[in-house]
Amino acid sequence: MRRLLTIIVLLLALILGIGLFAAFTRKNSAASAEETPAAASPLPAETPEPSAEPSPDPSAFTDTESLLVVANKKHRLPEGYVPPDLVTPNIRQTQACQMRREAAEWIAKMAEAAAEDGVTLSISSAYRGEDYQRSLYENYKAQYGTETADTISSRPGYSDHQTGLAADFVEGDGSFDGINFNQSFETTKSGEWLRNHAHEYGFIMRYPKDKQDITGYAYEPWHYRYVGTDAATKIWTAGEFESFEEYYGVDGGDYAE
Ligand SMILES: [Zn+2]
Repeated sequence: MRRLLTIIVLLLALILGIGLFAAFTRKNSAASAEETPAAASPLPAETPEPSAEPSPDPSAFTDTESLLVVANKKHRLPEGYVPPDLVTPNIRQTQACQMRREAAEWIAKMAEAAAEDGVTLSISSAYRGEDYQRSLYENYKAQYGTETADTISSRPGYSDHQTGLAADFVEGDGSFDGINFNQSFETTKSGEWLRNHAHEYGFIMRYPKDKQDITGYAYEPWHYRYVGTDAATKIWTAGEFESFEEYYGVDGGDYAE
């Protein structure tokens, strides 16, 4: 009799366990089903944008397929990452440049629009591979030491340029004349035009003024990053010199070590 009771109690416990497990699993799959549409793509073609801000899906910042992929001093790209669709953009270049296809298409549209406003946009650097970045960084490190090297160059794997979505703009022939790669680039026709219009073509100023603690870099009015027109417009609208890291609540600032 006692044995029978024990068996019944065990059976009841088992049934209760299965029930709880089923309920738990259903709840979880419902939650992930809700998240899927947002996770699908940062640039939904025709889908109306959800009003919720900012983008809720953290994988968008680590997935190299995403236009919101982050390379900063807290986010390293996958070892040896090379974008799969690098092409030469149709924009004036003072050195041969390559970018991911979508960014290249939009930078060309942007250059055309700027030209209509009487501004000739030129770039001098876009995609930089990890090996190239390594030699660049090691040179600076040998010359100035780690601390200074970290302020003027990214470590290999941590550069926004390695995403294939970033470009450095220059004025004139790109020669260093106190304007190019200098904060006074903001006063040039290109600098001014980009500040007001780049978001319309999907580009954001990646290292805005007075945001070094957040982005990890001092003000670079010449460095723009493609994120798509929706995201770029939202970030631009959020405020003058709003940074990507602030807008999305992404970890930035200095290297962890
Ligand atoms: Zn740059």
